[in-house]
Amino acid sequence: MLYRTVPKTGDELSILGFGYMRLPKKKGGSIDEERAIRQLRYAIDRGVNYVDTAPAYHLGKSEKILARALSDGYRQKVRIATKLPPWSVHSREDMDRILSSQLNTLNTDHIDYYLLHSLTKTSWEKMKKLGVLEFIDAVKNAGTIKNAGFSFHGDTATFREIVDSYNWDFCQIQYNYLDEHNQAGTEGLEYAAEKRLAVMIMEPLRGGNLAGHVPDEIQRIWDESPIRRSPAEWALRWVWNHPKVTVVLSGMNEESHIDENLRVASDALPRSLSATELGIISRARDTYQRLMKVSCTGCGYCMPCPAGVDIPGCFSLYNAHHLFPHDRSAKFHYFGRHGGLLSGVSYAGLCRHCGKCVKICPQHLPIPDRLRDVSNEMEGMMSVIVPVLRGGLWCMDTIGRLRRVISLNKTPK
Ligand code: SF4
Ligand code: SF4
Repeated sequence: MLYRTVPKTGDELSILGFGYMRLPKKKGGSIDEERAIRQLRYAIDRGVNYVDTAPAYHLGKSEKILARALSDGYRQKVRIATKLPPWSVHSREDMDRILSSQLNTLNTDHIDYYLLHSLTKTSWEKMKKLGVLEFIDAVKNAGTIKNAGFSFHGDTATFREIVDSYNWDFCQIQYNYLDEHNQAGTEGLEYAAEKRLAVMIMEPLRGGNLAGHVPDEIQRIWDESPIRRSPAEWALRWVWNHPKVTVVLSGMNEESHIDENLRVASDALPRSLSATELGIISRARDTYQRLMKVSCTGCGYCMPCPAGVDIPGCFSLYNAHHLFPHDRSAKFHYFGRHGGLLSGVSYAGLCRHCGKCVKICPQHLPIPDRLRDVSNEMEGMMSVIVPVLRGGLWCMDTIGRLRRVISLNKTPK
């Protein structure tokens, strides 16, 4: 494992951080806690010393499971990063209350890296007015938090403004080869580093879109390279190539991914990619930008939708439909998952355009407009067919129940 130094404190952090945001699930959809704990301990045993969680991850379960994972002596081996959610803060007292509850949940007397979660211009203004900087001073002086930072999803100008507003120790930004000029981007990364902030990177694989099963056009680009690497390895090496990056967070939930990331993190030195390798990655970037319809990372911050739309689910299948045009299964899955055949309805056409999700989306997506595109392309006759099918299923179920009642009544007493 390679380590990089936090400029203001000299703290040595593993360049691979464990993101506790996408934990492994069991078949029924519940979190596989034992596996999540095993995976994190495995990574810590191999040199990872930074783990990132938040109250918002898995609706509060991430912090709880992390506390279990860090029992048996593991707490002393890692720095915990967790976050203050601005959307749950309405007063200065809320900040103390939330932090105190996090210490309790995490079973620790201090948080090593504490962030204001997912700042944008609006949430930053709100938090400043509520006295967040005085709060940070107080808890830092008391030793309850060791390093103060913020995670960010706004524009570059706001990013500079926040960096200049406080003596931060670190920040966390979305950065990958598709987002070089999006949000904070390379410009923000270099600005923060100039001010001696450590820079933690989230979404290095853009919600998984840059890894795993990639479109044929992209795969052909990787295949043409004389160096054999998986799409994930290309994406991670691109981020670590920047010398001012401190930690890259990876939301690992497959053992094979953990092993691969650990291997790459053992030799991904700054400025280690050649001009040829960077050229190959540029070609992949251009191709992705042409193919992807919606830049959704699947973070889920926009959920729940009051109309019941599964926003990230709909976008994911819509993107899959365009990224893999020869594979017709995306529409089929859309029908099954969101059409209400397997569970409740959650398709894009249910959107009532209330705008609630737009205010929250860190990617600033015009969600209702994009959902209209999804609905037009993916649903067709679905809103007519599904109620008919559901009606048919309801009739069959009712007839079955009536038959059972009748046959019970006929049973001799
Ligand atoms: S705009 Fe549409 S998708 Fe967004 S929260 Fe409102 S109903 Fe849901
Ligand atoms: S639409 Fe925006 S908030 Fe919702 S999952 Fe996608 S990126 Fe996240």
